Amino acid sequence: MPILCYHAIDPHWRSSLAITPEQFSSQCAWLLTNKDVVTLTEAVASARPSGVLPGRQVALTFDDGLESLYHHAFPMLLDYGLPATVFVVAGTMTSGRGQADWIPGRCDKPLPTLSLEQILEMQEAGISFGSHSYAHSDLTSLSDEACRRDLKTSRETLEDALERPVRVLAYPRGLHDARVRRAARQAGFTHALGTSKLQPSGDLWGIPRIGVYPRNGRIALRAKTCRRYPAVRTSRPVTALARTLS
Ligand SMILES: [Zn+2]
Repeated sequence: MPILCYHAIDPHWRSSLAITPEQFSSQCAWLLTNKDVVTLTEAVASARPSGVLPGRQVALTFDDGLESLYHHAFPMLLDYGLPATVFVVAGTMTSGRGQADWIPGRCDKPLPTLSLEQILEMQEAGISFGSHSYAHSDLTSLSDEACRRDLKTSRETLEDALERPVRVLAYPRGLHDARVRRAARQAGFTHALGTSKLQPSGDLWGIPRIGVYPRNGRIALRAKTCRRYPAVRTSRPVTALARTLS
């Protein structure tokens, strides 16, 4: 079973990154009945570099730390009693930016990101948080030193704010290479997650996740949470085909 990657749960935003609260609720109900939804800490402790989790385990993650999660995903996760992890861009908490200016949002305005108060309330209720870097840059385009500095600053900023260790990273846009994975390790992360765009790196700093998108109905979710799905989705022919089609 895989680690799933969502972005926004939003009733108004029509985007490949946003699924509606109704869709998400239906997915939560199905996962609750059919899978063993575990915390990310449990998932990474037993994850193989291929992204496969043991048994029926599935973990839920959300990239970008968008504010819509507080209003639409958080109450539902509480209702269903499902654990989840949100990957936050640390710079949005410190610069007064408060916006996901790396993605155009509704009405072409950047989407608001979670405030520190919202993050702390969610953490208190059991949601965990990880780093999605400091500035959401393409880390593969940075120098070794700039990449390490971005990642280390993100970890330290989040640890100061959350008052607990932050050891898991999700790469912006899922992009990484050997230099970036080394920087992630040097910056103090014990695990780092990508997406199925790239083949697994074979270590714990390039674990693929499986994205969930608005077009994914019950059948797609069932397929994506199959044990063999991560290996098939990240195999060389399938990643090559996906690159050609995108
Ligand atoms: Zn992102």
